[in-house]
Amino acid sequence: MNDFIARLTSAAAGAGIALGREEAEKFYLLYLMLSDSGKKMNLTAICDEDGVIMRHFVDCLTVVPFVDGCGKRVVDIGCGGGFPTLPLAIVRPGLEITAVDSTAKKLTFVDEVSKKLSLNVKTVAARAEELGAGRMRGSFDVALSRAVARMNVLCELCMPLVRVGGNFIAMKGAEGHAEIVEAENAIRTLGGELVGEKSFELPGAGGRVIAVIRKKNGTPPNYPRQYAKIKSKPL
Ligand code: SAH
Repeated sequence: MNDFIARLTSAAAGAGIALGREEAEKFYLLYLMLSDSGKKMNLTAICDEDGVIMRHFVDCLTVVPFVDGCGKRVVDIGCGGGFPTLPLAIVRPGLEITAVDSTAKKLTFVDEVSKKLSLNVKTVAARAEELGAGRMRGSFDVALSRAVARMNVLCELCMPLVRVGGNFIAMKGAEGHAEIVEAENAIRTLGGELVGEKSFELPGAGGRVIAVIRKKNGTPPNYPRQYAKIKSKPL
């Protein structure tokens, strides 16, 4: 355990995040649970120690500075096995995180971890576009998403859930900038404005881009559309 904690703490520090001992121990427990259930439940292909530390834990922690100060009602769209939800909930216990995924089975794992580590996470098994058209429209300070869809599609899944004045924060890979340019029309149509974009290297794991979109205006009532439309005719 100590070796894992030392490596995680130093990798997180390299990304500008200071982890305390208690937080690092929670990450270790999460790592054990992920190695145990991750493959069985098809949650992640990455199960080796260094891969989990860098590609799951530290990658997810890079979003923390963008979330800080944005309000506490956070929704993670397409959280899968709980990323970025679980790392964020460990280091920011004051947030109220709603973790959404259309596959209920994956959320069982997120619930188990949240219970074991006493995290403030609520899971909702639903399609994002249905929540954004219905009961959760406009009800979050922040929407987050990692590795779910291309930016122009992702905007329509996430932005309707954000209140006016809130933020949608997209965690993208090396092609992030091109995707953001391609999504310019989607961002504007859904009421948003790109207010920040940061590109960086995640050591050993390639390029990353984090985009921050502020919701300036309400999303027009005809969005989000049904998923087949979102996908076949992206904004
Ligand atoms: N964010 C996680 C999982 C990425 S895999 C991570 O970074 O590891 C993409 C996940 O998005 C899958 O679990 C899939 O079920 C979910 N998903 C895709 N489209 C969705 C939608 N429209 N609504 C809700 N979840 C969706």
